Amino acid sequence: MKIKTKLRLGLGALFCLILALGLIAARHVYILKQDTENILADNYKTLDYTQQMLLAIDEIKSNPKAWQIFDDNLGQQQNNITETGEAEATQKVQDHYELLKADPLSSTLPGLIRKDLAELSQINMQAILKKSDIAVDSVESAIVGIVLTATLCFLVALTLLINLPSNVGNPIRELTDSIGEIAAKNYSKRLHFSGKDEFSRLAASFNTMAEKLEEYDSSNLSQILIEKKRTEALINNMHEPVIGLDENKNILFANDEAVKITGMSLGDMLGKSAVDLAVQNDLIRVLIQEKQGLNGLAQHAAAPSLKIYADDKESYFEKEVVDITIIPTGERQKKFIGQVILLKNITPFKELDFAKTNFIATVSHKLKTPISSIKMSLQLLESQQTGALNDEQKQLTESIKEDSDRLLKITGELLNMSQVETGNIQLNIQSSSPYAIMQYALDAVKLPMEQKEIELVVETDPDLPDVKADMEKTAWVLINFLTNAIRYSQQEGRLLLELRGAPTGVKFSVRDEGKGIDSRYRNKIFDRYFQVPGSSKTGTGLGLAISKEFIEAQGGGIGVESEIGMGSTFYFELAKV
Ligand code: ADP
Repeated sequence: MKIKTKLRLGLGALFCLILALGLIAARHVYILKQDTENILADNYKTLDYTQQMLLAIDEIKSNPKAWQIFDDNLGQQQNNITETGEAEATQKVQDHYELLKADPLSSTLPGLIRKDLAELSQINMQAILKKSDIAVDSVESAIVGIVLTATLCFLVALTLLINLPSNVGNPIRELTDSIGEIAAKNYSKRLHFSGKDEFSRLAASFNTMAEKLEEYDSSNLSQILIEKKRTEALINNMHEPVIGLDENKNILFANDEAVKITGMSLGDMLGKSAVDLAVQNDLIRVLIQEKQGLNGLAQHAAAPSLKIYADDKESYFEKEVVDITIIPTGERQKKFIGQVILLKNITPFKELDFAKTNFIATVSHKLKTPISSIKMSLQLLESQQTGALNDEQKQLTESIKEDSDRLLKITGELLNMSQVETGNIQLNIQSSSPYAIMQYALDAVKLPMEQKEIELVVETDPDLPDVKADMEKTAWVLINFLTNAIRYSQQEGRLLLELRGAPTGVKFSVRDEGKGIDSRYRNKIFDRYFQVPGSSKTGTGLGLAISKEFIEAQGGGIGVESEIGMGSTFYFELAKV
């Protein structure tokens, strides 16, 4: 119960009891007044009339006015009969008085009348005594009633007097003591008030305050400094660069490795805004760069590694940005307080990757010559200069030719890929006719298309402008699109090759009616070595990745639209001259 309610109830009860006491006292006083008035009205007047009549009797023989006085008082007495027996006594006075009137000189009648009057007085005196007893009873019951009510009032007041001050005072005293404890640095002090009144809320606030103070106290300065040194040593001993930023991108710390690669001094960095430093330092600019909104095609691409001169050589790093959030003491919501930028040194992996690429490049290059001579030998065999071949031998040479063609394609792709990976794409960009590129590609896929009896529909816009392209590489991409389309089409399927004018250049697209590509893999097919699970394993998974590199290296864009079971449309766009 709230203290306000407690006070209201206590004082309200006291007020009601005092009111009741007043009412009871007033009622008893009123009853007493009634009793007194009764005595006055009923009996005192009779005694007065009787007295007057006695005096009149004494003078009745000498004073003629006494008759009149007696008559008047007797008449008034007859109207003031209030007690039992009073009427009869008055009647006796009346009777003897009538006789006296008839015999005024009678010597016995005045005596009789005096006796009657004394009887009348006696009746009223007894009545007065009785009423006085009643009044005394009333006074006694009044005293009892008032004393009872007053006792009740006293008890309630006593209860309030004992309880209320302690109810209010005890928590205040406890609070005062606890504040004293806190002032004396005893931060473990807590208040435990039960109930839901103002004091329990006060206790909750006090406890939160004490908790925070305890936390601050336990993390005192020297401890904080030791912890800070420990953390700094830890970060400094990390072999990879680490930079800490606060929520406003001010640099909080940077380890030795980070300082080394930025080429700045620690003093120039600490406390400075990374955004300001980024203006003059390229590396810091790259480090604080947020992820840009990437388009659908680029999203799956791995974050590019950073090439930085470190350890006396060109090194490669991968950036990782970790957002730091905390839940402040006594609160519930998470709060962002900054970021830690970690640079992972991936140079050893890169070196291995280079070695792999070089190996692939060398092997695929070296393989090209023997494969070409195998093909030459096959041609000689087919020309029959070396003698006629029987059907079985022809079949064998045919299959050797197919395999060596495939080998040549694979080595070509591996070579292209190694060029792409080493960044050695040699582009020969010229003004090229889109029609010529298309024709070049169509000639190259004529044979496989015929073998699979594919119906090809070619639709081109007239008067398309020339494009800025490396003829050979662009044709390679189109051939790759067409080869894939043929491969994933049914026997006697249908292909649509389109050349359309686009706002900035020309769009080349190849549409097939094959099995289509599941949306889960649509973004991945341009990744190196990726093959849709369950698709033909004869390829290398490199064709589309190389295509993407070739087209993007020429400043163009590449993409696919496909639904499973609805065929696919691969396209690329090149800028006009
Ligand atoms: P591969 O040499 O394995 O064909 P690509 O890079 O050319 O490599 O293609 C990658 C994957 O994309 C393939 O494994 C295939 O599953 C899928 N793909 C490419 N073209 C098509 C197409 N026209 N229809 C359906 N799937 C395709």
